[in-house]
Amino acid sequence: MDGTLTQNDLSHVVDADKAHIWHHLVQHKAFETSDPRIIVEGKGMRVWDQHGREHIDAVSGAVWTVNVGYGRKSIVDAISEQLMKLNYFAGAAGSVPGALFAEKLISKMPGMSRVYYTNSGSEANEKAFKMIRQIAHKRYGGKKHKILYRERDYHGSTIGAMSAGGQVERNMQYGPFAPGFVSVPHCLEYRAQWDLSGEAYGQRAADAIEEVILREGPDTVGALCLEPVTAGGGVIVPPEGYWQRVQEICRKYDILLHIDEVVCGVGRTGTHWFGYQHYGIEPDFVTMAKGVASGYAAIACCVTSERVFDLFKDDDSDPMNYFRDISTFGGCTAGPAAALENMRIIEDENLLENTTQMGDYMLGKLEELKDKHPVVGDVRGKGLFLGAELVSDRASKEPVSEKQIGAVVAACNAAGVIIGATNRSVPGLNNVLCFAPALIATKDDIDQIIDAVDGSLTKVFA
Ligand code: PMP
Repeated sequence: MDGTLTQNDLSHVVDADKAHIWHHLVQHKAFETSDPRIIVEGKGMRVWDQHGREHIDAVSGAVWTVNVGYGRKSIVDAISEQLMKLNYFAGAAGSVPGALFAEKLISKMPGMSRVYYTNSGSEANEKAFKMIRQIAHKRYGGKKHKILYRERDYHGSTIGAMSAGGQVERNMQYGPFAPGFVSVPHCLEYRAQWDLSGEAYGQRAADAIEEVILREGPDTVGALCLEPVTAGGGVIVPPEGYWQRVQEICRKYDILLHIDEVVCGVGRTGTHWFGYQHYGIEPDFVTMAKGVASGYAAIACCVTSERVFDLFKDDDSDPMNYFRDISTFGGCTAGPAAALENMRIIEDENLLENTTQMGDYMLGKLEELKDKHPVVGDVRGKGLFLGAELVSDRASKEPVSEKQIGAVVAACNAAGVIIGATNRSVPGLNNVLCFAPALIATKDDIDQIIDAVDGSLTKVFA
């Protein structure tokens, strides 16, 4: 750390935090006996806490966000130059970085054409849902309004986004939710619902979507919303054959395809800019947030095809036919200024290639851990977005307890490596250690992460 804050300053910060901060996803009783962790500084893939302790951040800001790593001066400069010129103007007008980032982004998304700016992943998804509903009203008298979502997928924390939330454990205490959202089965082969494997499994899992459409009535279903690789629901990479069949089904029943790239987007899965691009599918909506500006500024986008955009164009018979929506902070210019520089870095430093190579390397290392530790039931992932599912018995696939997986995370923390774990309270599907290092990760970084996980598994389960 650079030493600009003294230990006295930092203990004051801890006191202020304990007195006034409501932390995300935390049961505050924990702070009766321990202090919250304050992250003071970051550089590359490493962060320093209030005690000056260094940690390798194996999850890019805990939630898969800081794709290009900490301490990027060129992004900070791009933001500050832009802010001195113009910090804000509402999105009914344009801005220089807004237009330039949209142009750059769309150049990486063949088939897509329009960018609607907003501030969070939840909100980007809400925009897509509202557009889908408006299309249903305009074209189908409101009938084709249902939005399908998949078990284990997550689309955000607002009530609309939670209505499309496939992680029951997150929703339990917050209903009732919005009507017109219907779930389809998950596609995790490790927790198979059909006695098939590989491509046949993928096709069967996609057929299950068609079954839901037929049950609900195809004339009532407007859209299908999916994560390319399910993130917080357990790092679920759909099996071969799944996506092709999903696309066929959407076309067959005139159903709009909404891909939630909030986690997978902007390089996380390697080789391609977006997760869906691995599968050759053609979405109508793509939403993105976390990696768009790597957390240097709050920015999210709902991107649509021109076909979707055209439906909102001038129509003499319907003067209300435009998207009657605003996101106040969608007019902040820091976001697109940061996002443009973020993309430049990914291109100039060949981070899509690095992500593929390091992701393959890390998956290989996780396979080795699986060979060594019986508690590792399955490892999976794409690019630098990986998971290791922990089971107390490989045959029954009984998940380890919440306490045990918590102990693994804590042991890694104690060894100086911050890792994640999916929500742990649901029997059957969860207990997955999560890894999403910055796209700049080296073999050395990955070896250090794997060593910590190896040691922690031994410590907790030996
Ligand atoms: N979609 C996915 C796939 C996510 O993982 C998240 C956040 N974890 C969101 C949407 C919501 O994003 P935000 O927290 O920015 O609202």
